[in-house]
Amino acid sequence: MSGGSATKAEQPTMEHHANLIAGKRCPALDGRTIDVVCPSDGQIFATIARSGIEDVDAAVRATRLAFDIGPWPRTSATDRGRVLARMSDLILRYREDLARLEAKDVGKIYASTNSDLTVLARYFEFYAGAADKIGGDVIPLPTGLTAFTLREPLGVVAGILPWNSPTQMFGRVVSPALAMGNTVVLKPAEDACLTVLRLAELAIEAGLPEGALNVVTGYGHEAGAALSAHPAIDFISFTGSPEVGALVQQAAAKNHVGVTLELGGKSPHIVFDDADFAAALPVITNSIIVNSGQTCVAGSRLLVHANVIDEVSQLFGAHFRKLSAGPHDIDCDLGPLINAKQHRRVLSMVDQAVNEGVPLIAQGKIANGSSEQGYFVRPTLLGPVPRENAIAKKEVFGPVLSLLPFVNEADAIALANDTSYGLAAAVWTKDVGRAMRTARQLRSGQVYINGYGAGGGVELPFGGFKKSGHGREKGLEALYEFSATKTVVLNHTQ
Ligand code: NAD
Repeated sequence: MSGGSATKAEQPTMEHHANLIAGKRCPALDGRTIDVVCPSDGQIFATIARSGIEDVDAAVRATRLAFDIGPWPRTSATDRGRVLARMSDLILRYREDLARLEAKDVGKIYASTNSDLTVLARYFEFYAGAADKIGGDVIPLPTGLTAFTLREPLGVVAGILPWNSPTQMFGRVVSPALAMGNTVVLKPAEDACLTVLRLAELAIEAGLPEGALNVVTGYGHEAGAALSAHPAIDFISFTGSPEVGALVQQAAAKNHVGVTLELGGKSPHIVFDDADFAAALPVITNSIIVNSGQTCVAGSRLLVHANVIDEVSQLFGAHFRKLSAGPHDIDCDLGPLINAKQHRRVLSMVDQAVNEGVPLIAQGKIANGSSEQGYFVRPTLLGPVPRENAIAKKEVFGPVLSLLPFVNEADAIALANDTSYGLAAAVWTKDVGRAMRTARQLRSGQVYINGYGAGGGVELPFGGFKKSGHGREKGLEALYEFSATKTVVLNHTQ
């Protein structure tokens, strides 16, 4: 959904994508809907349910019931893994349809949604294999006593998802939570619901009991707020903005439930003067244009040694001029932004920086024939950006790269750490000692050396420092995050 000037497409029927509760498609109880807008042309092509408190309550009750008396938490870890493995297969079987649906819904180019589905299938494959590999400890106690620990599911996990990568986000939250025997209720972002609803149906086809995974759609301040404040949930996995993350954490605190917060970022690439610039160029560029810069780990700051800043600026400038943004279904480098509001926000951040005197090094194009109603932003390289300028500090969530010079290693580290975020970072140098020293001093949940990203990074623990959030998802750590330790002490003195 989007605000702004969307118009109804000339379509005979407008498909409605209702909530999925206890295995059934349920429109909102009061019949309200939200329009689904294609970001490539601003046309409305479907509707979703605008859920209220009662719809959310129905979804949470179904999830609670599935945990308290349903089969899923009582299924052996091996069999849970088998269901997840079947889900991985189904995702690959339906990948074409899912990738097209996602591209139309969120405006991502098809190549990108297609590769997201590879990552999604890998999530289910990884946690299918891991489900029965998580054991406990035996703790030494005096003779006659034996203590051991068990990993228990937390119960009802609520997942509140952002709009930027719905299929990947589905995998990141749902697959480890289910692997540990939790039941899950999801509230996807109002702009990105269609694949999430479809995937939850596929999970039932894979053998997940009805009710073990429910999806309720709607606005954040309505459905999202109702879900995060619901007294019958046991844990919240939230991914989104720092502002909403704080609201969700406050709501969770009132019910004394735990929360992981995966929030935004202002991730730096630190390029030392001995780096292989040609190798770095496509990787750094991709990290800021993939999904049109709408990724929490967007590499949005290019920190470059002052000795080589002119060379790097020219190299990247020439490359940026060749990039083009266009609709999701043509062959171009990046798609539109998600909605009219984000479009206005990103354009105004660039305008403000330029009006404040930040040099515009280069901009890409908007592909010929792109709709005037699409939310396209030309890939933009700015710099040198003064360190205190807003664009050097705030998350843009668009294809905008800020170039900043540094003078030595200590300065690079200080500059890299000089934001309120700490999600990911990259160090580019041939000097291994310098790479390691720098990596150790970055306040960042992930650090890449001479690279960035790892094909979705399903296996790699992921999360933030500072305003990027807390808790860790992905990798084996997610299985600990979505479970709790139970200690059992056996007295066998008699
Ligand atoms: P957002 O915070 O506006 O929305 C996230 C989710 O929260 C949506 O489902 C929304 O409906 C819901 N929501 C909104 N208001 C709510 C409320 N009052 N109570 C409960 N739920 C509410 O974020 P967004 O605009 O969808 O996503 C962009 C942000 O997400 C960026 O800051 C980005 O960096 C971050 N993000 C982080 C990660 C990560 O892993 N760290 C991944 C993707 C996106």
